[in-house]
Amino acid sequence: MLDFDRCMPLPGPDPDTIPTMFVREELVMNDRYSQLQEFVDGIEASVAIVGCGESGELMVSACNGEFFEMAGGRRGGAGARSFPIVLDTLLPSYARHDLRKKLQECFASGVPQELEQAYDLREGTRWWRLSLKPFRFAIESSTVLEILVTGLDITPKMLLMRELEVSTSRFRSVVNAAYDAIITIDQLHNITLFNRAAEDLFGYDASEVIGKPLLDLLPETYRPHHDQHINQFARSPVNSRQMDERNRIYGRHRDGSLLPVEIAISKINVDGLLEFTAVIRDISDRVRLMDLLQKEAGTDELTGLPNRREFLDVVENILRTDDALSVLMIDIDYFKKVNDTYGHDAGDEVLRALAKVGTAASRSMDIFARWGGEEFVVAMPATDLEHARARAEMLRSTIEAQDFVYNWRTSKPIPFTLSIGVATRAPGEHDVQAILKRADQALYRAKEAGRNRVELE
Ligand code: GH3
Ligand code: MG
Ligand code: MG
Repeated sequence: MLDFDRCMPLPGPDPDTIPTMFVREELVMNDRYSQLQEFVDGIEASVAIVGCGESGELMVSACNGEFFEMAGGRRGGAGARSFPIVLDTLLPSYARHDLRKKLQECFASGVPQELEQAYDLREGTRWWRLSLKPFRFAIESSTVLEILVTGLDITPKMLLMRELEVSTSRFRSVVNAAYDAIITIDQLHNITLFNRAAEDLFGYDASEVIGKPLLDLLPETYRPHHDQHINQFARSPVNSRQMDERNRIYGRHRDGSLLPVEIAISKINVDGLLEFTAVIRDISDRVRLMDLLQKEAGTDELTGLPNRREFLDVVENILRTDDALSVLMIDIDYFKKVNDTYGHDAGDEVLRALAKVGTAASRSMDIFARWGGEEFVVAMPATDLEHARARAEMLRSTIEAQDFVYNWRTSKPIPFTLSIGVATRAPGEHDVQAILKRADQALYRAKEAGRNRVELE
């Protein structure tokens, strides 16, 4: 508790010697107040010297114009008033309590105090840091008689801090509301920022990855070269760019799965150290759709087989190598009759049956594709003419004998046969059309020779 009695009042007139002493004391005191005033006026900060009145109230012995201004008074006011003056009369009511409390603490303990106060003036709010230091002590005791209050205007600093606070919270809310994952790393490539979308995308809590290497979020295959890429970007004059636009890039989810992503990277220089930020967009939906479209573009709708375009693409790729390749051209015999006899839907079912049996009879490296209508093609890599003929013959006889399991949608299985032409790649041959033409000619001969046959080129 404060022992306010310890704060001695300023010396008053001695009742025994009133006439002479009073005049002298009065002179001495007036002299002292004007000396104090001169002292405080010479200081650039806001300054007041505060003592205690006879009844213990806080009295200002002197203060400068800055102190008046700080408290909302006018500069000229200091000279116009006579000291000592009750402190409260100089202060706005909202500022009195805190300052009074600190002054009383300083009087009671003799320990310097500090406080920050905001004063609402007509021109706006100003912030001051007030420091309270014991200034005069009672003779032969440590009782504090007066305190020197000096105030530093810290408004510019406070305004900057508030601006920073506002922009920091604005930044934070934008970062956290973003749909894209945002990750920042420092010079050592450790994570310093990980927003909510990043938590959702990668399956980690920010607290788990902050301070950890970014590498944990990359697929193993990227890890060995990633630092090198960042360093390259660090040296580049470009400050932000899209990462690897040509290739698909992936992040690594906590569960180890790969996340197709699109990444924009940027760098900023903070106190001479580079910080990198990546804005990462989850494109798995888009990739799924693209894959689907691509697959559909290469897939025959009725049978689910690769279509002519897909077949040609793959065969052209095979022809870029020196691998052996044989090709079958297959045509269903009298298919028109199948349609006429059993109906078009039954005809479709025959096409699906052949697709299923043909695919089942193929190796994983083969391509069994629908060429169009009731014609099919098979590419058989690493297969010479004789082996291709044997496999074509196997397929032909299987179909003829209905020696396969198929869950017919028609009321009963529909018999049909195949004619097949076989051709093989000549050494060094690169022209897919030429090989297909030879297979087609062989097929024509099979038809000519009575159908349900295999003919070689
Ligand atoms: P060939 O033994 O000489 O090959 O006689 P074909 O009747 O099989 O040959 P053609 O070229 O005269 O007839 C092919 C028929 O295949 C004509 C067409 O209506 C039918 N067709 C083509 N595509 C489809 C299809 O997707 N579904 C059905 N059901 N029929 C189709
Ligand atoms: Mg035909
Ligand atoms: Mg036919």
